[in-house]
Amino acid sequence: MNPDNSIVDGDALGSFRQQFNGEIIQPGDEKYDSARRVWNGMIDKHPALIARCTGVADIITAITYAHEHDMLTAVRGGGHNVAGLAVCDDGLVIDLSELRSVHVDPENRTARVEAGAIWGDVDRETQAFGLIAPGGVVSETGVAGLTLGGGYGHTRRKYGLTSDSVRSIDLVTAAGEFLTASPTEHEDLFWALRGGGGNFGVVTAFEFDLYELGPEVMTVGTMYPLEEAPALMRQWRDVVADAADEISSSAALWRIPDHTVFPEPLRGKPVFIPSSVYAGPVEEGAKAMQPLRELGTPIVDPSGPESYLELQRKFDPFFPAGDRYYWKSRFMGDLSGEAIDTMVEYMTKCPSPRTLVTVRALGGQIARVDPTETAFTDRDSPFMISIDSTWTDPEEDDVNVEWTRKLWDAMAPHATERIYFNFAMNEEGEDVARATFGENYERLVEVKSRYDPENRFRVNQNILPTV
Ligand SMILES: Cc1cc2nc3c(=O)[nH]c(=O)nc-3n(C[C@H](O)[C@H](O)[C@H](O)COP(=O)(O)OP(=O)(O)OC[C@H]3O[C@@H](n4cnc5c(N)ncnc54)[C@H](O)[C@@H]3O)c2cc1C
Repeated sequence: MNPDNSIVDGDALGSFRQQFNGEIIQPGDEKYDSARRVWNGMIDKHPALIARCTGVADIITAITYAHEHDMLTAVRGGGHNVAGLAVCDDGLVIDLSELRSVHVDPENRTARVEAGAIWGDVDRETQAFGLIAPGGVVSETGVAGLTLGGGYGHTRRKYGLTSDSVRSIDLVTAAGEFLTASPTEHEDLFWALRGGGGNFGVVTAFEFDLYELGPEVMTVGTMYPLEEAPALMRQWRDVVADAADEISSSAALWRIPDHTVFPEPLRGKPVFIPSSVYAGPVEEGAKAMQPLRELGTPIVDPSGPESYLELQRKFDPFFPAGDRYYWKSRFMGDLSGEAIDTMVEYMTKCPSPRTLVTVRALGGQIARVDPTETAFTDRDSPFMISIDSTWTDPEEDDVNVEWTRKLWDAMAPHATERIYFNFAMNEEGEDVARATFGENYERLVEVKSRYDPENRFRVNQNILPTV
């Protein structure tokens, strides 16, 4: 390792600059502070170099330079990882934020997406052809990190995880070799990249299967007073148990944000929001989701057809870059009354009015894929809880982190041992990683040992290679 950063001065850096086409940003440069910042304002890392790549050649050059100088290497896709895994102290950041092109092939219903793209880029290009790739629910989230870690969106029960729609992946390995992983090439790598995170190299592009949907979709978004949540979440649980695959539904505990889209008298009110999206024709969706719209008497019911593009951007204002975030998750084998009561009780004492607790209903197509078919192991949990603590004042860090950990601990008796790594702080430890990857863990170690034996890519949910 290179603790004093001396390598970033002198001839070696000069020759790196000559070979590199994009920008290389260092401490002291005007852009340094904005380039090292990621979405979570809690993260304050100081890399020695940030290499903004313009293409595959730059990625190979950066990996080679980091290797030659034994520099810790982080890879930045969309920079949205809550644990700040897009950046590192003292090392080199391979920054892909300039690589955002999306090319749709409408005839074959596929899209080739560069690894620095965000979901807003993909949605815009695919909707121009009446198609979608099943991504996340916030348009600014990066395609790369979300896809490598699985990916749950508004159409998850119909089309499965985001990683289930990947046809092929281009990447540069730790040895600086460019290759394509697909069902017929480097199959071991293709298996590992779908759920195993950024462990195996730097992805340069994904090829996705696309599906017909939009321009409008039917949505349900009723809101009820939080006091009604214990009874209504039980009802919601029972209704979604028999839901069609087209219905992807979540149950959220939140306070109505202080935002102009909500009626003024309701802002700040603690609420229970069972929300659902139908991946199919709008009228069919309205009928199929009526039972989910009628769980009780809502205080507000904005349900109705919505533009898919608008839906995909709808939550953006509530998760702005630079605020403070601490998120945790657990997969749930069921959703007991006790689990529901615990969540609601914690929510009544939540230190931040902006924190969101969500239970996503899973199943459908997700569960039809065998747990060993890709590296993403959890296929049978019917629910996943995510605790998304969100606040702005650094003075409130401790109280929010403590509350989140307590609720996460309190949910343990009601949950499986597995977590969703894309909603995690990278502090959960190896036991949780082993439990989460389960029967796939040893195979991931094998693939890691083959493609990155020196563990050069370790600023991630790290799988340790065998020595
Ligand atoms: C507001 C918000 C909303 C979200 N909504 C959803 C959602 O709806 N569904 C869902 O499943 N998840 C969601 N997430 C979680 C999201 O999946 C993770 O935060 C994910 O890590 C983001 O990917 P990124 O490319 O932006 O991250 P980054 O911070 O850039 O990277 C995350 C990890 O992936 C690695 N990585 C990134 N790019 C590459 C690459 N090209 N090659 C190799 N490794 C790479 C990084 O090294 C790092 O370890 C959300 C997150 C936020 C902040």
